[in-house]
Amino acid sequence: MSHLKRIYLESIGLEYQPFPGIGRPGEPCSQSLGKGAALEALRGEIGDCRRCPLSTGRKNLVFGNGNPDAELVFVGEAPGREEDIQGEAFVGSAGQLLTRIIGAMGLSREQVYICNVIKCRPPGNRDPLPSEIERCEPFLKRQLDILDPRIICALGSFAARTLLRTEERISRLRGRVLEYNGIPLVPTYHPSYLLRNPHAKRDVWMDIQKIMGILGLAVAGEDGG
Ligand code: URA
Repeated sequence: MSHLKRIYLESIGLEYQPFPGIGRPGEPCSQSLGKGAALEALRGEIGDCRRCPLSTGRKNLVFGNGNPDAELVFVGEAPGREEDIQGEAFVGSAGQLLTRIIGAMGLSREQVYICNVIKCRPPGNRDPLPSEIERCEPFLKRQLDILDPRIICALGSFAARTLLRTEERISRLRGRVLEYNGIPLVPTYHPSYLLRNPHAKRDVWMDIQKIMGILGLAVAGEDGG
């Protein structure tokens, strides 16, 4: 509601009623049905996707999960073995670390939304191919358009590079608040990288604190893992 619109409404005798909008992460709100239904429709459109060869090896397409009204959306790379089996994003060992990071923010997985650039598991967890990203990316874009979060956290170089349209290394992208379609985007290291390089947890926690600052969340502890 713009100031002018409010003055106009009041001048014609109508009371200004602020739209309930989106409150704290995970709070129910009047837009829930709208975003949830739009995501379901998008999932329906993707269907039993055969648009790229990854479909032949997958058990489940991993669309993404969480709160459609989330203020914070995490975007990872691609489903791994456990995600492929369960059909949910970030439920394997990297996912458990992500859950701890989310918890350290004072949030739960139910309050955020989690998805990936690629919706089907690449064989042997290899890196996604450019052709696979090209095929799947339009759906991620539409998913993010629907979610319209206050902030996006890009986990790892594939998510950061895809969303930011850059070839820059994640080590150079992280540590900054960048932008995706007008939405603040904080790139950080992927939880799988953290499992192999625990010393990077400090950097990730600094990035996560940037997100917490933007969301107005109180810093709860010293490190995210
Ligand atoms: N790694 C990802 O990038 N996404 C998942 O869902 C799981 C592991």
